[in-house]
Amino acid sequence: MEMPATPRGLNAYLNRRFTCSCGREHYAPLKFVSIRENALEDLPGFAGQFRSLYLISDHTTYEIAGKRCMEILAASGVKARIAVLEHTGFDEATVGELLIRMPDDCDLMAAVGTGAINDMTRYFSFRMGRPFITVATAAPMDGFASSLAVLNVNGLKTSVEAHTPSAIFGDTNILRGAPYSMIAAGLGDLLGKSTCLCDWKLARLITGEHYCENTVRLVESCVDGVLRDAGSARDRDPKVLGSIMEGLVLTGVAMSLYGNSRPASGCEHHISHYWEMMFEQQGRRPVPHGTQVGVGTVLILKLTEALRAAEVDFAAARRAAAAYDQAAWEADVRRAYGPAAQGVIDMEARAQKNKTSARLERIGVMEARWPEILSLLEALPASETVAGLLRSLNSPCLPRQIGVDEGLLRDTLLFCKEVRARYTILQMIWDLGLLEPLSDQVIRDLR
Ligand SMILES: [Zn+2]
Ligand SMILES: [Zn+2]
Repeated sequence: MEMPATPRGLNAYLNRRFTCSCGREHYAPLKFVSIRENALEDLPGFAGQFRSLYLISDHTTYEIAGKRCMEILAASGVKARIAVLEHTGFDEATVGELLIRMPDDCDLMAAVGTGAINDMTRYFSFRMGRPFITVATAAPMDGFASSLAVLNVNGLKTSVEAHTPSAIFGDTNILRGAPYSMIAAGLGDLLGKSTCLCDWKLARLITGEHYCENTVRLVESCVDGVLRDAGSARDRDPKVLGSIMEGLVLTGVAMSLYGNSRPASGCEHHISHYWEMMFEQQGRRPVPHGTQVGVGTVLILKLTEALRAAEVDFAAARRAAAAYDQAAWEADVRRAYGPAAQGVIDMEARAQKNKTSARLERIGVMEARWPEILSLLEALPASETVAGLLRSLNSPCLPRQIGVDEGLLRDTLLFCKEVRARYTILQMIWDLGLLEPLSDQVIRDLR
């Protein structure tokens, strides 16, 4: 089947093999998604294909959704049992509790909740060789369709291999009961797709990176829809909350389709990854992922606004490239990354993204195609629009509101691009020799 050139509903992309004009094949293993009012009513139809369902919840999510799931399943004659976890460290003890409570005949599991419950169910069902589904109680990030899980192993947050869910249920009657902070985090993660897709378009133009127009259009269509309607998230409008969750699930599907995180994670995510690392090193608890991405998106938009207003001097960019000092870079990375520096330095040794010859080539392309680059930057939403949406949900939109001071902010803007070898707006501004002055300008403007 040919990958649609005009975006279709989410279910049109699931569990189907697509050939695509980008030259690749696309496949997303997720089978079914229902995000609507009373979506829980679709649960028996899916679970009824199995012998017995094992639902996993904690006390909070049991009250929010677990109890209702059990009523609906019982009324339809679907065999189901629910565990209300007592061991909620999402560690070895939780795995043990799940194992002890598991019904012998269960052949499908269900995570009732978000983040940690999903990750644990994703992992546990994977290790038990059974499929799982998700009944969401909130939609604070785009990890629903992910195949990795984060657990606490030996007291350390550890990323482990798992699998993607077979189905996802988002009942908007339940989602609207989620706290504003969670709604805003989901919105923040979704708003970040605007800068992330711009990164990909820039990379295609400047480095010739592989690009899938159909995947980009698909993600873009849901970001545009949400940008248009997000104002009503404040009133917990079920339609808008449903479309935020759909956008988050869909970007996860887009990652599956494309085969890596390019369609969903760009420089705004590199900012968040850097903050996660720094907060962990300092023993501080960071705000939720989506909240960080929202703040990161505002920062990137401010930087691009500064770039659009700046005088770009390609001769100066070439001089900056020629003057690049690998040893000085390494010293900066050691300072900015602390104990995590070696991984960054090793990655750069493989990726060579800062190497002068490659950078000079990119500067040549940028000079030749600057009007196209500018029009990509001009198509981005205004930083004030995104900040305003986050503010309307009482959500942080500035670094200082989430515990990031000016020193950390400066390191973030200058060095978070080293987190991954992926070409982004930040790498582009660095290529032009403007990352330091423009970052300082943004930091001053935020005072
Ligand atoms: Zn994200
Ligand atoms: Zn494609």
